Amino acid sequence: MLMERIWSGNALRNFHYLIACPETGEALAVDPLEWRLCLAAARERGWQIRQIVNTHEHADHTGGNVPLKAATQATVAAHAGAAARIGGVDRGLHKGDLIRVGRTVELECLDTPGHTMTHVCLLSHSEEPALFCGDTLFNAGAGNCYNGGAPEALYDTFVTQLARLPDEIRIQPGHEYLARNLEFTLNREPHNADAARLLEEARHHEPASARITTLGEEKRINTFFRLHSPEVIAGLREQFPDLPQNPDARTVFVRLRELRNRW
Ligand SMILES: [Zn+2]
Ligand SMILES: [Zn+2]
Repeated sequence: MLMERIWSGNALRNFHYLIACPETGEALAVDPLEWRLCLAAARERGWQIRQIVNTHEHADHTGGNVPLKAATQATVAAHAGAAARIGGVDRGLHKGDLIRVGRTVELECLDTPGHTMTHVCLLSHSEEPALFCGDTLFNAGAGNCYNGGAPEALYDTFVTQLARLPDEIRIQPGHEYLARNLEFTLNREPHNADAARLLEEARHHEPASARITTLGEEKRINTFFRLHSPEVIAGLREQFPDLPQNPDARTVFVRLRELRNRW
C-alpha cells in the first residue's frame, strides 16, 4: 500500500489522504476537501484517483467530492446512513465492508459512531497497518460530539473497537491537533512524561510534517484512553464534585469530553 498524507493548510487544519496500489497506480482519496491539492499530489506520483471515501457527513470532509469527481470520474463511498445527507454517494458503506484499491490494497470499514452517528474508519490490511479515523480519534485526542454525535456512543467506539486494535496501528486522523491535544492531556494529567516529551517535539514541527502516532502511543498520551489513571480521576473529581470516588470508565470519558468542549 502506498500512502500520502496531504496537509490542507486551511484554518480547520484538515488532513487528506491518498491511498494507492503500487502495481496499478489506482488511488483512493479520503475526505479530499482541498481537492486540487489531492489531484496535484496524485498527478505528481503518477496515480489515478478512482475512489473517494468520506469518513462522515461534515462539509469539511465532503466539500471536495463534486469537483474531484468531475475531474477524475471517481466513485464516492460513505456510511450508508450518511449517504442521503451527503448526496451523490455511489456506494453506501456498512461495518465489515471491504474496499479494494487496485490489485493489492484492502481497506476494512469500521462503523464508529460518536463524533456523528454515521462515521466510518478505514483499517488497512497492509504490512504497516493504518487507521484512517476521520474525526473519531485524533492524535492525542477525541472528536467532539456537538454536531450530530453523542459522547456515550464515542466511548463505546473507543472501548469496544479502537482500544482492541493492535498497538502498532498508525493513527491517521482528519485534522492536525496534536500539540493542542497534548496540552489538554497535560492539563488533566500533569505527570504524564510521555505526553510532555511528545509536546516538546510537536511544538517544533510544521503541521505538514506532524508526527504520526501509533495506537500503542495513544494509550499513553491520549486522555481519552487513560480512563483508569488515578491522576485523571482525581483531577476530574475536583472539577465535578458530584463524582463518586471510583467513577466508571464511561462516566470519566463523558466528563472529559465535556471539559474538553470548554477548555
Ligand atoms: Zn466532523
Ligand atoms: Zn472535520
